Order: sequence, then structure tokens, then C-alpha cells
Amino acid sequence: MPLHKTPAIILNHKDFGESDKIITLFTYSLGKITSIAKGAKRSRKRFANQLDLFSFVRPILWEKHHSSLTRIDQCDLLQSFPSIRKAPERFAYASYFCELVDAWVRDRDPHAELFHLLLWALRMVDQGASLAPLSVIFHLRLLTIVGYAPNFIACVNCNLWKGGQVSYSFNYEKGGIVCSDCALNLPLKNRLSPGTVKLLSLAQKTSLAKLSRLHFSAQPLAESAPILENFVHSLLGKEIKSYRFLSGAQECIR
Ligand SMILES: [Zn+2]
Repeated sequence: MPLHKTPAIILNHKDFGESDKIITLFTYSLGKITSIAKGAKRSRKRFANQLDLFSFVRPILWEKHHSSLTRIDQCDLLQSFPSIRKAPERFAYASYFCELVDAWVRDRDPHAELFHLLLWALRMVDQGASLAPLSVIFHLRLLTIVGYAPNFIACVNCNLWKGGQVSYSFNYEKGGIVCSDCALNLPLKNRLSPGTVKLLSLAQKTSLAKLSRLHFSAQPLAESAPILENFVHSLLGKEIKSYRFLSGAQECIR
């Protein structure tokens, strides 16, 4: 049986039978993998906290004949993110980010950039980053990585950037901004101010290491968060269960 040793993030886990657990891992080199951890339910000592949600680990995965299910025998814990588990709103955001990635990726379809984004986001949540801006950036970068980068450079209709001379709205079908000159007959919903558009454009191209330096004040957050969330959810076409809990957390921190 071939084996793999690859960094991974625990996206989900559930009990299986009397003593085992089924684990969903987002691995660096294999993509999303479902694995069985024998004895993990019965004995906490067997894997200690390596298989907790969000844990960054390096498991040894054995392929099983005639099955897509792998088996985890050993697992090194690289980072456990203890602060995430101590605060409900941090837990809600981390769960949401993991569920979004889980929903987006297919089994055994490696996605190194997405892996780096999720790991970066979990580290930021754990380190106490402001959650609402982090969520905006996560949606924005997720969209860019999976090939649906919103166009915040110029109006998707006239192809011009008119700065503060006009206002802008977001067009979901075209995946970008429409200037008010081109949207004369459309209802003015999904409004984005020029300052918010510029900030989002900057957040698309800034490296992850420098993203925490970008400052999102209340207005750009209020304008962009619902638009980006709706855009991601509509592209996915399915309900993200942890979003309901997240909405409750957002009420508390916005
Ligand atoms: Zn235009």
C-alpha cells in the first residue's frame, strides 16, 4: 500500500463506529482527502489533539486497495491554534473558512495557493487579527485563487476607471464593478464607494505577508463584506452551514 506524508489541515471529523473517526483533511500535495483514524474515538491518547478541527499536521496516510478512503496511522502536530478554540467568534470564523474551502475543492485535487491561504487565515484568527477585515480579504483571495477574481480595476461595461467622479455598484453576473454612468437604468444596489473599490483592488494584489497592514474602516467593511460573501455563496451554489453562526458573530463585532 503506498503511503503519503504531506502537511495537512483538519477540515472536519466525525465519529465512525465504536472506536474510529473519519477525518477530512486538506493536504498540501494531495488536495482534499478522507481518512479513517482507527481507535481515535475510543482513545484520546492515540492521537492526542492532532486530529482536532483546524490543526495543522503532518500525517502519514496509507492508501487502501479499492477504496478512496486512506488510513491515518501517525500524525505529527505542527500547529494547534489554541486561541481559536477559546473564543466562540474566532471558532465561528475558522469553521466558516474551513467549510468554504471544503465546499470549493474536489477530492484529490491539490491546490497549493488555497492551502497557503487557509493556513494563513487560521494563523491570523489564532493571533487575534480583526475578524471582519480578515473575512473580506479571505473571500477576495479565495475568489482570485479559484479563477473568479472580481474586477475592481475598471467598469466591466465601459472599461474605464473614473475615480471619484462617479459611484460604482457590483454586478454579480459580470463579476466586477459597473460605474454609475453605465448603470443609469439599473437600481443602485450593491454600492461600492471609489475608496472601497481601490482598497479591494489593493487587497487583491498585496502579498499575504503584508495584507495585515491594510486598514479596513467601517465603511469599506460594510460595503464589501455582504457583496463578497454573496458572490462566493452564489458561485458555490450551496448553503454554508457555519455561515449562520458566523452571522451571529458578525452582529457582535461589527
Ligand atoms: Zn462604465
